[in-house]
Amino acid sequence: MAANAVHHPFAAIGNAGDVFEIADGIRWVRMPLPFALNHINLWLLRDGEGWTVVDTGIARPEVQAHWRRVLEEAGEGRPVHRTIVTHFHPDHLGNAGWFSETYGTDLWITHEEWLMGRLLAIDATEATEEATVDFYRRCDVEPENIFELKNRGAEYNKMVTSIPRRFRRMYEGDRIDIDGFEWEVITGFGHAPEHACLYCEERRLLLSGDQILPRITPFVGVHPMEPEANPLARFLDSLTKFRRLHRETLVLPAHELPFTGVLDRIEVMREHHEERLEVLHRACARPMTARAGVDVLFRRELDAQNLRLATNETLSHLNMLIARGEMERAVRGDGVWEFGSR
Ligand SMILES: [Zn+2]
Repeated sequence: MAANAVHHPFAAIGNAGDVFEIADGIRWVRMPLPFALNHINLWLLRDGEGWTVVDTGIARPEVQAHWRRVLEEAGEGRPVHRTIVTHFHPDHLGNAGWFSETYGTDLWITHEEWLMGRLLAIDATEATEEATVDFYRRCDVEPENIFELKNRGAEYNKMVTSIPRRFRRMYEGDRIDIDGFEWEVITGFGHAPEHACLYCEERRLLLSGDQILPRITPFVGVHPMEPEANPLARFLDSLTKFRRLHRETLVLPAHELPFTGVLDRIEVMREHHEERLEVLHRACARPMTARAGVDVLFRRELDAQNLRLATNETLSHLNMLIARGEMERAVRGDGVWEFGSR
């Protein structure tokens, strides 16, 4: 068992637009989120005469009001040159359009994350809804927990401002100069299609987005648009890229607190998923649906939304077992998938 030697050198700073300078020219901004996970960490990096902002928060008037104040006070009224967005999730990409329109900033993002955000913002058709409902039916999720998906329209759009139509593309291995320091783009997969982390070896800092968090394991799920996907393998694979980081690296994650101990944290995350794979493999000695698999992995009451997310996560483990040749998927007469260990 890897020891979880995660340390938090800084205490929490509150959620409502509070700012703390974590290193010279690097400011930690906490913003509220309207979820169980009630905050996100965003970053203000000094960049010559202005700032580079890393991730932007969810599109809500109160978050934009906090940003205005943060830029005026902690940002000393200097301009924002660019926003770097780690991935398309609305708590990260949410205000990128607002930044572009308000401050004329450029959006820096990977190609897949930009495409995904743009796609979700326009793809709110009935056919998409039907495909989603069909997916959860095949997982055997109860009709009452699927029902509310009907006529919800574009959920994503409610959490993002118009996503810029023009962007600067970040590639794996790119080195971005921010205030004379080189930040290397390291992409991660599984949580999002092409999630960008930024690593400054010289300063031993990693902006990890949602790819590496200190306590929660990042969500890795199978989605309705790609039911046979194996995102967990991609996620674990991409984690190995971070093994070369300096042992003393201070990780600046999008949720929870900054931490050191990233190499141990990676091993703990890997073990966590291996354990879950084993538990599911054992449980599926008697074939079961994805919904029954949720009860095996998550032994607690879940509301409809969390149940669907748990189903996505359970499927990511089932599909990884299939890819390893340790699980088989059959289709029942009613179209529901059934998973049995081999
Ligand atoms: Zn995310």
